[in-house]
Amino acid sequence: MAQVDAKIETMYQEVLKRNPGETEFHQAVLEVLESLGPVVAKHPEYLERRIIERICEPERQIIFRVPWQDDKGKVQINRGFRVEFNSSLGPYKGGLRFHPSVYLGIIKFLGFEQCFKNSLTGLPIGGGKGGSDFDPKGKSDDEVMRFCQSFMTELYRHIGEHTDVPAGDIGVGGREIGYMFGQYKRITNRYEPGVLTGKGLTWGGSLVRTEATGYGATFFVNEMLKARKDSFDGKTCLVSGSGNVAIYTIEKIHQLGGKCVACSDSNGVIYDEKGLDLDLIKQLKEVERRRIEDYTKTHKHAKYIAKGNIWDIPCQVAMPSATQNEINGKDAATLVKNGCIAVGEGANMPTTPEGVKIFLDAKIAYGPGKAANAGGVATSALEMQQNAGRDSWTFEFTEKKLEDIMINIHRNCFDTAAEYGAPGNYVLGANICGFIKIANAMVAHGLV
Ligand code: GLU
Repeated sequence: MAQVDAKIETMYQEVLKRNPGETEFHQAVLEVLESLGPVVAKHPEYLERRIIERICEPERQIIFRVPWQDDKGKVQINRGFRVEFNSSLGPYKGGLRFHPSVYLGIIKFLGFEQCFKNSLTGLPIGGGKGGSDFDPKGKSDDEVMRFCQSFMTELYRHIGEHTDVPAGDIGVGGREIGYMFGQYKRITNRYEPGVLTGKGLTWGGSLVRTEATGYGATFFVNEMLKARKDSFDGKTCLVSGSGNVAIYTIEKIHQLGGKCVACSDSNGVIYDEKGLDLDLIKQLKEVERRRIEDYTKTHKHAKYIAKGNIWDIPCQVAMPSATQNEINGKDAATLVKNGCIAVGEGANMPTTPEGVKIFLDAKIAYGPGKAANAGGVATSALEMQQNAGRDSWTFEFTEKKLEDIMINIHRNCFDTAAEYGAPGNYVLGANICGFIKIANAMVAHGLV
């Protein structure tokens, strides 16, 4: 093993050298490589064919200028990205993130994680990710439309239903997908619904896609609880964020008998000990695009904690659903100390390596994002299936499929962890299980 570990360490050093300054990408790579020692010890062919080095190098990275005009007629310039990471299991698949923090290192961490996540779904999708440092906050609807049109004017030449199928992520929802789909259709003169997922229901979208990431993450936590002969019933829960993932996580937690008492945005935390009023949150966030602070305007009993830390609130189940590295070592220690027994990541890489170690050492049920939040992209793959068959399925049918996929992912991660001598360690289970399928396909495809 020592020799194998030394080889993997050399690979990691090479990743650091080849990708300077991309700290989030380094973090995501290290987390996976740390799990792979026992796998390559069993499969020397992966080392011979340098599968790990190839997986760490995206197949293609596209960076482009996105010029657009704001409402005052002033020219604005953003940077656009699409990193096509791995196509061994299917066309590149993954969302687009519009957020001022976006740079190549963020897109590469997301794209890298996406490969393993997509592999775990069991569906035929490769991994990719894209986005821009465009900040949608405070922009008018027309500005968002002009930005999306300019973004697609470059992106369209790189994507297609058999090549690369983008979707949403932070800052990209139904509105943005609509503007991008319209521009794609206009440029190509093709009504090609399979080119994007997360579409509107009357033009090729799938029922349950909006709810999928949050519902899926909650189904995953439910499975982790069931594996411990427990359930959501009566559990106090925290869900960070208040975007699409957070909203539908809260909804499913409530349906399964849990009580979600807090959510957040980048300005602060809402704490409602009676349980969050989700209709109000939906109205504020989805309809009026306001801040969650306004929750207390009608619900005087609730508390708004400006710049507060949601993880200080005692809970039994925590579901980080905002962004990367939102739970650090100190937050993880607080959660464990306060009696948290399960963490399910709706966001991508929301826990720092220090935090992950604390959860694993405490032996709580910890579901890492690439397993727990795979329901979003899995339902995107179901949307692609419906598009390919010119079909549309009912809500119940699609939700059942989503639930079955999450049950399967949980089972595979659980069994793989046990097989590799680390029962209950879903990080190891997810990394190994996601990796092996990609690695075998890459071996089969030869040196490409
Ligand atoms: N952005 C989501 C994710 O992180 C969904 C991607 C998709 O639907 O393609 O998995």
